[in-house]
Amino acid sequence: MKVARFHAPGDIRIEEAPRPEGGLVIRVRNCSTCGTDAKIYKHGHHHLAPPRVMGHEIAGEVVGTGERVQVIAAIPCGTCAECRRGRMTVCPDQESMGYHYDGGFAEYMAIPDKVVAVGGVNPIPGGVSFAEASVAEPLACVLNGQELARVSDGDDVVVMGAGPIGCLHVRLARARGAARVFLADVNADRLAKAAALVEPDAVIDDDAVAQVLKLTGGRGADVVITAAASGAAQEQALTMAARQGRISFFGGLPKDDPIIRCDSNLVHYRELTIVGANGSSPAHNARALDLIASGQVPVADLITHRLGLDDVLEAIALVSRGEAIKVTIEP
Ligand SMILES: [Zn+2]
Ligand SMILES: [Zn+2]
Repeated sequence: MKVARFHAPGDIRIEEAPRPEGGLVIRVRNCSTCGTDAKIYKHGHHHLAPPRVMGHEIAGEVVGTGERVQVIAAIPCGTCAECRRGRMTVCPDQESMGYHYDGGFAEYMAIPDKVVAVGGVNPIPGGVSFAEASVAEPLACVLNGQELARVSDGDDVVVMGAGPIGCLHVRLARARGAARVFLADVNADRLAKAAALVEPDAVIDDDAVAQVLKLTGGRGADVVITAAASGAAQEQALTMAARQGRISFFGGLPKDDPIIRCDSNLVHYRELTIVGANGSSPAHNARALDLIASGQVPVADLITHRLGLDDVLEAIALVSRGEAIKVTIEP
């Protein structure tokens, strides 16, 4: 079978590999790409020991039974103190598909037993395509983020960052009953493209704090989500939040530049809540599939590019250049 294997930064090869046998094996139908794949291609990743088949947004058919399934990306251990408390997204022993185990940029892939053990193989509901199901993984992460930030009825929500994750945040905030959703990005082209698809109540292209205050009559936003690796966006988020506002630092910052300035008195007097977000649990993945199946969070139109396995490098280039919303590989 054919696979796309990472050997070193800048070195991903399309290669022949033996088809996995024994245990649960799936015929991969869609494996979508995300910003992390572009980052790995450029810099590698400390959790990824090459050579490794990449790809972690996975949907396919079980070999033998033909069952249509979606597979989790982040694998909690299921037994540590956090997992036992139901906090699987912060399992310190978490491993990942495409990092610790061969991923979905392949015609076939073996599903590790520990993925099955934590309920990480979800049946795809009828009416949901493999391509849509592959987007359940990033949507699950977005769902975790909005649960922690308690996005709910009547909220004014600002999403900073108009990439695929930002688009999913806009759609999910609406599904959770947000009153208004505003989408911000410093890249006007990307913002326009995303806004045409997800139709926020307003777009914000610069001077984000002033614009949010204007749009909210000086109150600020109930929830601000930073879906960008930007410390500046995080600092702005703190100053555009309403009283008792919740701020989600959804996107992490570069490892070598993670420090921001935070006016602690803003947090104190305005009773702000700052939350993080680290991937998703198996249960989030199942619920993300339900959100897609019920039509509450449509994702089909966010898939702007479909490429074959031979074109993985082109897919990663599209993601890096920010020219696509969602690029999916169909091995
Ligand atoms: Zn991803
Ligand atoms: Zn654990």
